[in-house]
Amino acid sequence: MSTDENKTIELAGSITVRELSEKINASPIEVIKNLMANGVMANINQLIDFDTAAIVSAEFGYEVTQKTFDKAPEEEIGEIPLWRRLIESEDKKDLLRRPPVVTILGHVDHGKTTLLDALRHTHVVEGEAGGITQHIGAYQAKHNDRTITFLDTPGHEAFSSMRARGAQGADIVILVIAADDGVMPQTKEAIAHSKVANVPMIVAMNKMDKSNADPERVKQQLAENDMVPDEWDGDTIIVPLSAINQEGLDDLMEAILLVADNMDILANPKGETIGTVIEAKIERGRGVMATLLVQNGTLEEGDVVIAGTTYGRIKAMFNYQGEKICEALPSTPVSVMGLCDVPVAGDLFQVVQNEKVAREIIKEREIEAEEQAFASKGGMTLEQIFERFQAGETKELRLIIKADVQGSLEPIINSVKELGIGEIGVNVLHSDTGNISESDVMLATASDAVIIGFNVEPDSAAKRLAETNKIAIRTYNIIYRLIEDIEKALKGLLEPEIREMVIGKAVVLAIFKASRHGKVAGCRVLDGELRRNGKIRLFREGTEEAIFTGEIASLRRHQEDVREVRKGFECGIGLRGFNEFQEGDTLECFVLETVAPI
Ligand code: GDP
Repeated sequence: MSTDENKTIELAGSITVRELSEKINASPIEVIKNLMANGVMANINQLIDFDTAAIVSAEFGYEVTQKTFDKAPEEEIGEIPLWRRLIESEDKKDLLRRPPVVTILGHVDHGKTTLLDALRHTHVVEGEAGGITQHIGAYQAKHNDRTITFLDTPGHEAFSSMRARGAQGADIVILVIAADDGVMPQTKEAIAHSKVANVPMIVAMNKMDKSNADPERVKQQLAENDMVPDEWDGDTIIVPLSAINQEGLDDLMEAILLVADNMDILANPKGETIGTVIEAKIERGRGVMATLLVQNGTLEEGDVVIAGTTYGRIKAMFNYQGEKICEALPSTPVSVMGLCDVPVAGDLFQVVQNEKVAREIIKEREIEAEEQAFASKGGMTLEQIFERFQAGETKELRLIIKADVQGSLEPIINSVKELGIGEIGVNVLHSDTGNISESDVMLATASDAVIIGFNVEPDSAAKRLAETNKIAIRTYNIIYRLIEDIEKALKGLLEPEIREMVIGKAVVLAIFKASRHGKVAGCRVLDGELRRNGKIRLFREGTEEAIFTGEIASLRRHQEDVREVRKGFECGIGLRGFNEFQEGDTLECFVLETVAPI
């Protein structure tokens, strides 16, 4: 181990053990041992975070500095999206006001599309080309010489996924409610989403021209959903309008600007350029066209951009009127040409120094995505939520409650709300009658909530999404069981116990080189069995601690892959991320067993 004090390395963020060991001129084994001494179990391909890498490097005599220009955004499901955090970290004196970004949500057929079209006709200034506005997923409207950016994908599916990815882009939500139909399931979902994202809402009470419009009933329903109208001393602004007759639109624009004036809608046009992908597609003759919403900094033609796991140099940029532009300031939607592949709506984009840096970050993200998929990181199960309680990361149990009838919802909500213990509270984010749907699962994903069903079941789409996103859905038909379970979750009784069980031992007799898996050790099983899906600890003669702990990459007998090898038999074994076998090494095979909670 070197003790030279003057060596410095630069790291962008997370790094694999292998890459770190190359940078600090140490063998991966030495790094792994050092990590273990620091309480971190890692194999050679595992990513370790910047702080850990810095500690290990220091012990090898290297000082670590963080590269700033190519810091990969952590697209985590956090309360505050990365672009907002970035703006918050900017020097206050560099921050300027930017146009508010507005998204329109509401129940199907309540008039979202009609309202967006009406605003486009009445409030969008014609482009120089006298041009027709392009549908690029966003446009900018003007009122009293002030600009408002509208996200133009009605029923904005991206909103949920954007929110779920912590990259949600809107400053204000317009909640469209048809005055003749009132608050409906998707209205409630939209309310829940906006509350979770902490985005203020303005209610556009649409279809006021209809003879059966009943605004008083809508206000009543809103009040029941914790959105008390301002004329009743609450703080929900309600703007009556008729999108079809283009009436009340100025009032709506006025309300948006009023709400915006009371918010810090800021950005640093000279800062790091970052934003959100609004939509993307492949166009014949143009290649990938992506609409990007700039949220900080200024996007310029020729910039190299990474978005999710794709990148490219911007060859040309167009505004929503189809006019070619060279730069775009914060809150501006632009359609850009030049990305290598189609990014996903809701992905963050970011300008980086050059294409080489872009490729490096993407490689890192791909490894990270793999690691995450491997760790099957998804939503929260009750058990994981309890772990977070214990770690002090969460102070509430968030629930989405669905029941068959209104009559059973209320007693359930009232009882669970009373269950809070000390600082830990129960927060019912959303409750409604009806089966558990895909959008309930989306909301749960976005907000780390658990879904509780009473006399209802998830439909098949919801089940699938819940499995993918690892969202806990618990269904009951007896109220006290439901209450009991939530109480247990709060007290931590549902936490499963994970036990390690050693199931076999083997000794290395010879080492071979295999093309696909690096090195393979020929072993004899001395005791129990080796299982393909088990884990291995490897001990060297004379050492007490394992020098490797990790997974089996291959387990073979007579050239054939096998699931297990029993005592007395010989086999070839490859370990994921480990090649330094020596004759006489002993292997211990173990499995993790989850012991069911009481
Ligand atoms: P979306 O599903 O929320 O996007 O709703 P649409 O904009 O497609 O509107 C659904 C239906 O309501 C259409 O037939 C519209 O013409 C109608 N509609 C929308 N706004 C109004 C309005 O202000 N008054 C009346 N009478 N009908 C409207």
